[in-house]
Amino acid sequence: MTRLGARHCARCARARCLCALVPNPPLQHPTEVVVLQHPLEVHEVKGTARLLQLGLRGCQLHVGEGFSPLPNPEGRIEALLYPGEGATALPAGTPPERLRLYVLDGTWRKSRLLLHRNPWLQALPRWPLNAPPPSRYRVRKAQAAHQLSTLEAVAYALPAPAPVEPLLAILDGLVADLGAAAAARRQAPIKSA
Ligand SMILES: [Zn+2]
Repeated sequence: MTRLGARHCARCARARCLCALVPNPPLQHPTEVVVLQHPLEVHEVKGTARLLQLGLRGCQLHVGEGFSPLPNPEGRIEALLYPGEGATALPAGTPPERLRLYVLDGTWRKSRLLLHRNPWLQALPRWPLNAPPPSRYRVRKAQAAHQLSTLEAVAYALPAPAPVEPLLAILDGLVADLGAAAAARRQAPIKSA
C-alpha cells in the first residue's frame, strides 16, 4: 500500500501519474454512477475507482464508512450493484437515463462492511451482474477470478450501449503500469537506508 504524499498527482492521486489513461473527453453514459469507497481503499495503488471516476462523466466518488442517501432531484430509480439472495429485483426495462447505480469500492470484506454499516443500501434493489467474463485484473490477492474490479463491474453493469471496451482499456493501462513498476522494483539495486 502506498500512502499519498506531495509527490502524488493531484488529479489521479497516483505516484506514477496515469492521467494519460483517462479518455479526454470522458466517456459518457446516461446512467448515474455513484461509487462509495471504503477509506482504506483511497491509497490503494491497485484500486480502480479513481480512474473510473475520471474516465466516466458524471461518475461520483464518495469516501467514508457511513453514508447518507444522496439527494435525488431527478427522481432516478436507485439500485445497488451487488449480488444477493432475496434482493429486490429492479423493474424490468428501467431506462438507463432513469437509473442511478450505487457501487461499493473495496475488497469483498470491505464491501460487506460498507453494506452492514449502511442499512439504506441494503434496502435498495440489487443490480446483479449476470455471468460477466473473468476478470482481466488479477492483481489483487483478495480477488478471486469471479470477483471484478470496481471499474470492470461498472463497465459490465451499465445498460447497453455502454462504453465497455474504452473503460476496460483504462484497466489494461493500469495493469501494464503495475507490471512495469513491479519489474522496475525487481531490477533496481537495493538502496541502503
Ligand atoms: Zn495523474
